Amino acid sequence: MNLPTKLTPIADGIHAWIPHASGSWGFANCLLIASGTRAALVDTPYDGHLTRALLAAATAVLPAGARVETVVNTHANGDHCFGNSHFPGAEIISTRASLDHLCTEPGPGQMHHLTHGTPADQPLGWYMRRHFGHYQYRGIQLVPPTRTFTGHHQLSVGAIPVELIEVGPAHTMGDLIVHLPDQGVVCAGDIVFIGDHPAHWQGPLSGVAAACETILRLEPQTIVPGHGPIVGTAELRDHRQYLQDLEGAIHDGHAKGHSAQRTAEQLARTGFYAHLGLEERLMITTAVEYRHLDGDDSAPDLIALANRAATWAFHRHHAGIPAPTPVPAAS
Ligand SMILES: [Zn+2]
Repeated sequence: MNLPTKLTPIADGIHAWIPHASGSWGFANCLLIASGTRAALVDTPYDGHLTRALLAAATAVLPAGARVETVVNTHANGDHCFGNSHFPGAEIISTRASLDHLCTEPGPGQMHHLTHGTPADQPLGWYMRRHFGHYQYRGIQLVPPTRTFTGHHQLSVGAIPVELIEVGPAHTMGDLIVHLPDQGVVCAGDIVFIGDHPAHWQGPLSGVAAACETILRLEPQTIVPGHGPIVGTAELRDHRQYLQDLEGAIHDGHAKGHSAQRTAEQLARTGFYAHLGLEERLMITTAVEYRHLDGDDSAPDLIALANRAATWAFHRHHAGIPAPTPVPAAS
């Protein structure tokens, strides 16, 4: 796998690690904040190999004597927190809801089993090997947050003020965004995906769109998404439009009495935002939105949701069906 060897400079003391690979799962962005001898990291990578690559790149820009003393996890998905154990002694901050959500999230052992212990000729096993087989889950020690908050939390890294703002439930139960007011930077976590369809596990989509609205109100110059390249507010507005278009199409299918599966397949077949990768994620987000429309507030079965996406991708792949013809996004 091609990992960046350098961090991307954003502002004085602010660098991003952008292991961008569209059409993939798990290559999440991280943000390094350093001032004087203090340093903080927003999100940690998915496995030891990725985290060591990030640390090597970080060493080149960290001031002498500085080490990461604070880790912020934007949410509890493993691709944003499985690297926590590489920062021994660091305070690890997330929302209270994110800590609660950890127990429903597949841990490293379960990810290893799903990737290597499921039948390779069945959709889930095939899909997991294809998209997660290059990660090393064995031996990862899950380190939960050591400090949690609800609403807002303020900290400073040396001279740099940092605001944590809870915006979940949205992508997951406990999402937060990180705002650096002096630098005009927002680290959005998985509220924002650029280049691929997002997979939202909690929803509703109106919650994700509201979180985008919260970011826009901060008027940042720079937005670091959870996945994909760094963007500005114009791209974030486009993304909010995507979320609203998706919400409209799903609610329409629901109102017609169509199943979640039928609605999602219709979206994929008709090339909904077909320039984005991983169309199979529409199966997940649609099923999640239906849960809200149906008033189902039981805990979502994340593996069953992943299986919906895997089954769609498996059958498309084995039928030799190419990605749908791109159509212009609605304006
Ligand atoms: Zn992610």
